[in-house]
This record gives sequence, structure tokens and C-alpha cells, in this order.
Amino acid sequence: MKKNGAGMPGQPTGIGRRKAIGFLLAVAGWTVAGGASAGKAVAKTRKFGVLEIADGVFVHRGKHDLQRADNYGDISNCGFVVGQSGVGVIDTSGSFRAGGQLREAIRRHTDKPIRYVINTHMHPDHVLGNAAFKQDGVQFVGHSKLARALAARGERYLSAARQAMGEKAFAGTEIVLPTVTAESPVILDLGNRQLALLPQTTAHTDNDLMIRDETTKTLFVGDLIFSGHTPALDGSILGWVEVLKNLGKVEANRIVPGHGPEMMKLGDASKPMLRYLNAVIADVRKIIAQDGTINEAMARAAQQERERWELFDDFHRRNVSAAFAELEWE
Ligand SMILES: [Zn+2]
Repeated sequence: MKKNGAGMPGQPTGIGRRKAIGFLLAVAGWTVAGGASAGKAVAKTRKFGVLEIADGVFVHRGKHDLQRADNYGDISNCGFVVGQSGVGVIDTSGSFRAGGQLREAIRRHTDKPIRYVINTHMHPDHVLGNAAFKQDGVQFVGHSKLARALAARGERYLSAARQAMGEKAFAGTEIVLPTVTAESPVILDLGNRQLALLPQTTAHTDNDLMIRDETTKTLFVGDLIFSGHTPALDGSILGWVEVLKNLGKVEANRIVPGHGPEMMKLGDASKPMLRYLNAVIADVRKIIAQDGTINEAMARAAQQERERWELFDDFHRRNVSAAFAELEWE
């Protein structure tokens, strides 16, 4: 846990000791937070629907689409966890407007203060709603490499989003950098409820952070898992395979993917991912061994995957190109 370069993993210095103690003291007769008792499964709400997938754990399912005016960046999953003394938000969707709708969805289920906004990684469809939570005085939390990544890419993300969505859908959107970062596993306390932050080595990106609700063992994996939506490689394909293999060692009753259903079983989720990534690796290696070019690789590699994923043409060629650049130096 780091804030302004200070603090040790596991110590609440980054959040302020007083606040952390406040969380710990707020323990008395744990009852299920507002909304959590109403009907186990479907708590779909009007505009920005959220599903309660476990006691006090809510997920909004984003559409499988590219940024457009009519979806205002609502194209990835996001969610929140309700503790006894506060709420932790996990990803904020892809615009100020979408983040604001997530905030309204939270307010329909609980009036507890929003304490943390945690980003699973740097991508715009997961972070551009952050600004909607500035009014709550939250800590913005991310992987230790998130700030650097957003500093490098932020302006480009903003101009691309503005162009794709138009001024109206984009209005109010800005980059909000993390105020608290994790470079090793650390716990956030929401009051009788803990979230474990689990930073990963380079995989989907170089700043992937998993979050596990320790009460229900619900694991938010961000874009380490895509389901239905073609995976997007922006880190290391070999690293991603490694992280996915190690995922099996993490205790989890259910996972929340960055794109796909509100929840999945880990095994069901990681199998197609590994099949896709390993197919790309195998074909790209073969093409490199035959002195093939990057263009040949983009046209030929892992084409058997085409029918199995949505938005294949929007992401696959770029994945192969990134994999080629990584694997040609083996
Ligand atoms: Zn992503």
C-alpha cells in the first residue's frame, strides 16, 4: 500500500490510520446491507442494472461493443461491495455519465459512504467513470503501475473517447489518478468486511489488479478474463498465460470477468481464454519459425477462434501483432 511513496504493505498508513481504526471499530451486529436481503438473485434496476451475485456484492454487466454515443462507454463490467461502514467500488465504466449511473445504482441499494474506488487496470472502459466519485471524497486505488500507465495514455484515452462518443456522452469525463496504490497484496476494510487487493505481474496489461471480497470469496479479475468478447492483449501474452495458470491457486467461489456475464466459475472462465491465447502463441511461433511476416501472422494465426468470440475483427489482428512483437525475440 503506497500513498505519496510512503507506507508498508498491510499497514493502513496509505489510507490514514484514524480512518482505518474507524472501520475496525464499526463492528456491531452485522446485518446484510440495504438491498442485499431483497431477493437473492435478480435485483435488476432501471437504467444501469446491477445484479446481486452474492450477499452485498453487486455487478453491472456492460455491453459487448466499442465506445459509441448511444452506449456512452458502458461496455465493461463494474461493481461494488457493501461493508458495514462503507462501500468499495470496483471499476467505474467508460465515461463520467456511466460512472454517475453506477453511483446512482449504489445509492438505490445503500446509503453507506463510498470509501474506495478501485480500478482493475488502466483501460478507458474501466476508469473513465472515476470522476463521478470525486464528490464522495473517496480514495482512488490501483496497481502500483497504474498511475504511470494513465499518465502515459490518459490524454489519448480522453481524445479517443470524445471522438467516439461525441461531446454529450463524453461530458465531464476526465482521468483521475490513484491516490493509493498496491505493489503487493493488501487488505482494505469496509467495516466487518475486507477486500484483498492482489496486484499481478504483466498479463492483460502491466497494471492488472484482482480484488477479492473475503466474506463471499468473490474474485473480481478485471480483464484477466474475457468471456464472449474477444480478449485484448496490451501487456504480455506469455505473462497472461502464466497468470491465468496461477489463478487456479486463488481461492474463489465465483469470479467476475471484465467482459462477459456478471459471474462465472473460474474453470469455465479460464479455459476458453487459455485456448485462445495458446492458439495465438502456437501459430505465431510457427509463422516466425517459417520466416513469415507480421502481416501473414495477422491474416492466418488462430483463425479457428473467429466464430467463438464477439468483436473478433476489432481485436484479434492487434493481439496477433502484439504477440508477434513479443515472440519474435524468443
Ligand atoms: Zn482492459
